[in-house]
Amino acid sequence: MIVVDNITKRFGGIRAVDGCSLQVAKGSITGLIGPNGAGKSTLFNIIAGLFAPDHGSVSLDGTDVTGWPAHRLFSQGLARTFQIAHEFGRMTVLENLMAVPSGQLGEHVASVWLNWRKVRAEERIIRERAEEVLAQLRIDHVKHELAGNLSGGQKKLVELARTMMWQPKVVLLDEIGAGVNRTLLAEIAGEIERLNRDFGYTFFVIEHDMDLIARLCSPVIVMAEGRVLTQGSMSDIRASADVIEAYLGG
Ligand code: ADP
Ligand code: MG
Repeated sequence: MIVVDNITKRFGGIRAVDGCSLQVAKGSITGLIGPNGAGKSTLFNIIAGLFAPDHGSVSLDGTDVTGWPAHRLFSQGLARTFQIAHEFGRMTVLENLMAVPSGQLGEHVASVWLNWRKVRAEERIIRERAEEVLAQLRIDHVKHELAGNLSGGQKKLVELARTMMWQPKVVLLDEIGAGVNRTLLAEIAGEIERLNRDFGYTFFVIEHDMDLIARLCSPVIVMAEGRVLTQGSMSDIRASADVIEAYLGG
């Protein structure tokens, strides 16, 4: 689904990503771990189109998407979570989902004036899709609540739901568990597993909670100093001398 080939990204003198190559298989939940500063978030930002790489290429489902802007990648099926922005807190959960741009439907102001009936029909489709996603994530009971009033865990599920709106090919999750207690984290992990198993979504997950990674991800890719150190099952990785060195030696 994703092929990263020999990506390099420098910030001033720092090589944040340094000749990184990896692949995320269709239908997998692939994990990305590594010490702080390994370049994980920078790599995600390149894949998601927030930064252009200095070298190398990224392809998505067979299409070379290197240097594509985020919105174009999003309409091509690459979604990533973002925290619910402040202003969205005053919208309901349903409205939050309906506000996710589709990349295709009823976005042009002109079309509102030219074809009001069509826009109304599209709005109904968008609402139905939002309701369907909320049901898939089993948070449809809070659809009329203001997003700002939800618990931390429910907000995380709404973030996840927003990425699901337009049936992405792959979802990037950068530390979705940060600041979430263990019970909620297990619940979110369960939802990710279920979405993967029942609906076939592919996930690429950065997470520092090793138990969560072990439960959720196969394979697990280890990054250190901007490149891939090793990959495999979590038990292989736990046994690898290089990995122990990267975490404890640095
Ligand atoms: P990780 O997510 O694995 O902790 P990052 O990708 O955030 O690592 O960071 C990799 C390296 O790049 C670090 O040395 C970090 O300080 C640097 N870095 C990341 N983003 C920027 C930026 N926008 N400007 C300058 N340096 C950055
Ligand atoms: Mg990071």
